[in-house]
Amino acid sequence: MKHFTLKELTKTKTVLDNTPSKEIIENLTYLVENLLDKVREEYGSPITVNSGYRSPEVNKAVGGAKTSQHLTGCAVDITTGSKSENERLFNIIKQYEFDQLINEHNFS
Ligand SMILES: [Zn+2]
Repeated sequence: MKHFTLKELTKTKTVLDNTPSKEIIENLTYLVENLLDKVREEYGSPITVNSGYRSPEVNKAVGGAKTSQHLTGCAVDITTGSKSENERLFNIIKQYEFDQLINEHNFS
Protein backbone atom coordinates (compact mmCIF):
# COMPACT_ATOMS: atom_id res chain seq x y z
CA MET A 1 0.00 0.00 0.00
CA LYS A 2 1.69 3.09 -1.27
CA HIS A 3 -0.90 5.72 -2.05
CA PHE A 4 -3.77 4.62 0.18
CA THR A 5 -4.09 4.07 3.91
CA LEU A 6 -6.17 1.63 5.86
CA LYS A 7 -7.67 4.62 7.62
CA GLU A 8 -9.14 6.11 4.46
CA LEU A 9 -10.28 2.69 3.25
CA THR A 10 -12.28 2.11 6.43
CA LYS A 11 -13.59 5.59 7.16
CA THR A 12 -17.30 6.13 7.67
CA LYS A 13 -19.54 9.14 8.08
CA THR A 14 -21.65 7.13 10.50
CA VAL A 15 -20.79 6.73 14.19
CA LEU A 16 -20.94 2.95 13.82
CA ASP A 17 -18.05 0.57 14.33
CA ASN A 18 -16.21 -0.09 11.09
CA THR A 19 -13.19 -2.06 12.24
CA PRO A 20 -12.01 -4.52 9.59
CA SER A 21 -11.03 -8.10 10.38
CA LYS A 22 -7.67 -9.51 9.35
CA GLU A 23 -9.25 -11.12 6.29
CA ILE A 24 -10.84 -7.83 5.23
CA ILE A 25 -7.54 -6.00 5.63
CA GLU A 26 -6.01 -8.61 3.34
CA ASN A 27 -8.72 -8.03 0.74
CA LEU A 28 -8.30 -4.25 0.89
CA THR A 29 -4.53 -4.60 0.62
CA TYR A 30 -4.93 -6.87 -2.41
CA LEU A 31 -7.19 -4.36 -4.12
CA VAL A 32 -4.83 -1.47 -3.46
CA GLU A 33 -1.68 -3.29 -4.50
CA ASN A 34 -3.11 -4.89 -7.60
CA LEU A 35 -5.27 -2.07 -8.81
CA LEU A 36 -5.56 1.22 -6.93
CA ASP A 37 -1.86 1.98 -6.48
CA LYS A 38 -1.20 1.22 -10.16
CA VAL A 39 -4.13 3.31 -11.28
CA ARG A 40 -3.05 6.14 -9.00
CA GLU A 41 0.43 6.12 -10.50
CA GLU A 42 -0.84 6.15 -14.04
CA TYR A 43 -3.41 8.81 -13.24
CA GLY A 44 -0.76 10.98 -11.59
CA SER A 45 -2.94 12.93 -9.15
CA PRO A 46 -4.58 12.20 -5.81
CA ILE A 47 -7.71 10.05 -5.77
CA THR A 48 -10.31 10.41 -3.02
CA VAL A 49 -11.88 7.34 -1.43
CA ASN A 50 -15.58 7.86 -0.81
CA SER A 51 -16.26 4.43 0.62
CA GLY A 52 -14.16 1.31 1.06
CA TYR A 53 -14.87 -1.35 3.65
CA ARG A 54 -18.32 -1.25 5.26
CA SER A 55 -19.16 -3.30 8.32
CA PRO A 56 -22.65 -4.89 8.18
CA GLU A 57 -23.95 -2.10 10.44
CA VAL A 58 -22.45 0.67 8.33
CA ASN A 59 -23.59 -0.95 5.08
CA LYS A 60 -27.14 -1.17 6.39
CA ALA A 61 -27.07 2.45 7.56
CA VAL A 62 -25.98 3.73 4.14
CA GLY A 63 -28.50 1.55 2.30
CA GLY A 64 -25.91 -0.74 0.70
CA ALA A 65 -26.91 -4.00 -0.98
CA LYS A 66 -26.87 -7.09 1.24
CA THR A 67 -24.35 -8.73 -1.03
CA SER A 68 -22.28 -5.56 -1.47
CA GLN A 69 -18.59 -6.16 -2.10
CA HIS A 70 -17.92 -3.34 0.33
CA LEU A 71 -18.76 -5.84 3.09
CA THR A 72 -15.76 -7.98 2.25
CA GLY A 73 -13.35 -5.15 1.48
CA CYS A 74 -13.45 -6.04 -2.21
CA ALA A 75 -14.93 -2.73 -3.37
CA VAL A 76 -13.76 0.85 -3.08
CA ASP A 77 -15.66 3.87 -4.39
CA ILE A 78 -13.32 6.58 -5.62
CA THR A 79 -13.52 10.02 -7.14
CA THR A 80 -11.22 12.72 -8.38
CA GLY A 81 -13.66 15.50 -7.63
CA SER A 82 -14.52 16.44 -11.19
CA LYS A 83 -16.53 14.86 -13.95
CA SER A 84 -13.94 15.12 -16.70
CA GLU A 85 -11.18 13.80 -14.45
CA ASN A 86 -13.40 10.92 -13.29
CA GLU A 87 -13.88 10.04 -16.94
CA ARG A 88 -10.12 10.00 -17.45
CA LEU A 89 -9.70 7.86 -14.33
CA PHE A 90 -12.42 5.46 -15.50
CA ASN A 91 -10.61 4.94 -18.78
CA ILE A 92 -7.38 4.13 -16.97
CA ILE A 93 -9.09 1.62 -14.67
CA LYS A 94 -10.79 -0.04 -17.64
CA GLN A 95 -7.43 -1.34 -18.85
CA TYR A 96 -7.00 -3.43 -15.74
CA GLU A 97 -8.77 -6.73 -15.59
CA PHE A 98 -10.87 -6.39 -12.52
CA ASP A 99 -14.32 -7.87 -12.28
CA GLN A 100 -16.30 -4.82 -11.34
CA LEU A 101 -15.97 -1.26 -12.48
CA ILE A 102 -19.02 0.86 -11.93
CA ASN A 103 -19.56 4.43 -12.97
CA GLU A 104 -22.12 5.04 -10.25
CA HIS A 105 -22.99 8.70 -10.77
CA ASN A 106 -22.18 9.40 -14.39
CA PHE A 107 -18.66 10.56 -13.51
CA SER A 108 -19.84 13.23 -11.07
ZN1 LIG B 1 -19.60 0.90 -4.25
